[in-house]
Amino acid sequence: MNTYKDRDLMVDGSMVYCRPHRSESCSECNLDLSPLNSLYKALSQVHGDIPPPNALNPNIARQISSLRENGNKNLKEQNFDEAIKYYTYAIEFSFQRPIWEPHELTAQEVAYCLGRRSLAYISIKSLVNAYVDAEWGIRIKPDSVECLEFVPNDGNFKNVLEEALEKALKLAKNN
Ligand SMILES: [Zn+2]
Repeated sequence: MNTYKDRDLMVDGSMVYCRPHRSESCSECNLDLSPLNSLYKALSQVHGDIPPPNALNPNIARQISSLRENGNKNLKEQNFDEAIKYYTYAIEFSFQRPIWEPHELTAQEVAYCLGRRSLAYISIKSLVNAYVDAEWGIRIKPDSVECLEFVPNDGNFKNVLEEALEKALKLAKNN
């Protein structure tokens, strides 16, 4: 049974903590203040001025699309390491979207960049990374074209992946 109990909280700067343990998410006090603190942080960035539903922060949107385009450009020019770098930035940026922006958009962006990064990883034969990216992209957005397009159809990718897996298992056995 939950009875209302006064919480012993403290404020430090812009963060709220439990006072006894000075923790943001405290199992002893059975308290998780991190959503509140993140909300505060997000709100303070827009000075409390929450945009209307489905409005996007144009700066973040612009940043993400420019990073993604740089990824695509480098992928096309076969600068795979650079492409991976830009897609990684784009993914990190996507996760920084304010929490009130539509979640589907983040999923779409992240899945797209994961799929493209997966292609870049395949190109440099970094197969485990390629596999993880495609797999995560599909989990985030099950109908992601970028992630699905090569995984089931590309027999070659599958073969090399199986080969890599065999090698890894052998190595594991010998150690
Ligand atoms: Zn506590």
